[in-house]
Amino acid sequence: MEFQLGGLQVSGETQGEHVRVLIIGSGPAGMSAALYAARDQLEPLVLTGMEMGGQVSLTDRIDNYPGFPEGIKAQELIDRFKAQAERFGARFVMDVATEVDLSQRPFTVKTYSATYTADALIIATGASARKLEVPGEAELTGKGVSYCATCDGWFFQDKDVIVVGGGDSAVEEGLFLTRYARKVTIVHRRNKLRAQPYLQKQAFEHPKIDFIWDTVVTEILGKDAVEAVRLRNVKTGEERVMPIDGVFIFIGHIPNTELFKGQLELDERGYIKVHNWVKTSVPGVFAAGEVADPRYRQVVTSAGMGAAAAIEARHFLSEEG
Ligand code: NAP
Repeated sequence: MEFQLGGLQVSGETQGEHVRVLIIGSGPAGMSAALYAARDQLEPLVLTGMEMGGQVSLTDRIDNYPGFPEGIKAQELIDRFKAQAERFGARFVMDVATEVDLSQRPFTVKTYSATYTADALIIATGASARKLEVPGEAELTGKGVSYCATCDGWFFQDKDVIVVGGGDSAVEEGLFLTRYARKVTIVHRRNKLRAQPYLQKQAFEHPKIDFIWDTVVTEILGKDAVEAVRLRNVKTGEERVMPIDGVFIFIGHIPNTELFKGQLELDERGYIKVHNWVKTSVPGVFAAGEVADPRYRQVVTSAGMGAAAAIEARHFLSEEG
């Protein structure tokens, strides 16, 4: 069997194996769960998913993870998380879970290339960028439409781009894009940003950043690349076409829980429902990070949940002897 994974060509079918603790996802929650489970000698195996590091890999710097007063490059933080977990014996497999059976133990997790069974499961699959769902968006993704400034900002040297959204991500990534772009226009559907005050201040004071308020993008136009966006003022109903080179979309996230529908209790937005912070509706299955946390969604809180999930997995396994 051959398949593409994160740009890598992977070939060969493996047997899979039985593990005490299987962790799905390699963001801060999965990494920290791996560290704690490994230190508890539970020999965890981590299925990394497409992106080692999860959403952290889509950002440039992390300034609010404790212990790094000068901030740290996101990639370096991921490498450090991984190295620390590996030091205690955690193993990482670059593969994607495609099917789970949580109806009986051991739990079964199928991936692109193998089938694993596990006595306890920690789900740390995170969340993915929400789409605008407007005409032109899907067709022009990768051709001027992007959900990752760190990945694609470089391509917009001296170009004009818009950023859609008004939260921390939109403002932070908008600020990042000023390194490359000639002008960054933040298009927000209200007239007030949701982002933290310190980010707002930086954006309002930045000479390269402009704002268009009370406005939504209704269409992205272009043949082989983005050429313009159609905008609508939600207060006046007025429409106009704005020529632009790039559209960066940061309008929140959708939890990656498709695999678990019908097997775990999810809330109305699709997040895994947890009690005692990390326990799901199935004993022995724990959830950590943004897949179960629509509220805090920080690297540090996700890492905290990952640690808690591993500790609970240890209690669960030791209680049953
Ligand atoms: P968010 O806080 O949910 O903000 C989403 C933004 O997109 C909001 O301004 C929202 O508008 C807008 N929006 C949503 N749907 C839209 C649509 N269909 N069309 C147009 N606009 C739409 O998401 P986020 O910025 O990705 O942040 C997610 C979490 O990560 C937050 O908890 C945030 O604090 C955290 N985060 C923290 C940092 C940091 O600490 N440095 C950096 C990035 C993210 P409304 O405001 O009108 O709802």
